[in-house]
Amino acid sequence: MTFQVDCSHARAPATLAQCRPFIENQACKVFPAYRRITGINLEKECSAITYAIYDKDQWPHQQGGEGGVAERCSAELLSEFSVLIKSHIGPYDVHELLHLYQSQLGALPYSHILFGASQLEARREIGDHYGYEAGFARLKKEVFAPDLEQQFTRMAPDQRCRMAEVREEARLYISNPKVVYVFYRELQVGWLKDQADREARFNRMFEKVSQGRARKFLLEHGCAPW
Ligand SMILES: [Zn+2]
Repeated sequence: MTFQVDCSHARAPATLAQCRPFIENQACKVFPAYRRITGINLEKECSAITYAIYDKDQWPHQQGGEGGVAERCSAELLSEFSVLIKSHIGPYDVHELLHLYQSQLGALPYSHILFGASQLEARREIGDHYGYEAGFARLKKEVFAPDLEQQFTRMAPDQRCRMAEVREEARLYISNPKVVYVFYRELQVGWLKDQADREARFNRMFEKVSQGRARKFLLEHGCAPW
């Protein structure tokens, strides 16, 4: 398993100086952290993982869209969202690498399902304590937002269940961060494209992990019985 970084689309010397610390953090910290969290051996799928770093004016994708793209065993990222990220352990990426790991889970109900809990736990695992604390506080604020119910009412009905799953994941994580490891071990891999089936697979997992407590919230926020 090797890690490669292509910084030929970034220009400033200060940016280029961060390429090596970035890819070392990916290889030595973030990659093993996600292996522990997910239990997935991505080496089976990827003999190498490649990052390409771009300055804004070199970005080959739509401007103003997402600042990162993950494909099979590779990721492209804007320099501001990768090598230029400030943390006391140096720059790293916990987002695109998680997309690569989650490609092994099968069909997902939502492209960023389990991202809140998983990214936070990765920050904790790699020792970015400040990033973890700030992120944890943000997640708590989202989950306990006083207008949470109104947020659901305003959502299109076909969006509600996947958002209820994201909320449930965060609620469970806040009550016990260790559950994120269990999410990945209890989830059944499945490739059916049907959205209801994707949601049901995740709902069965949340129900099991929460020992039945997730059921009520999910059913009351747009999920069909599973
Ligand atoms: Zn993403």
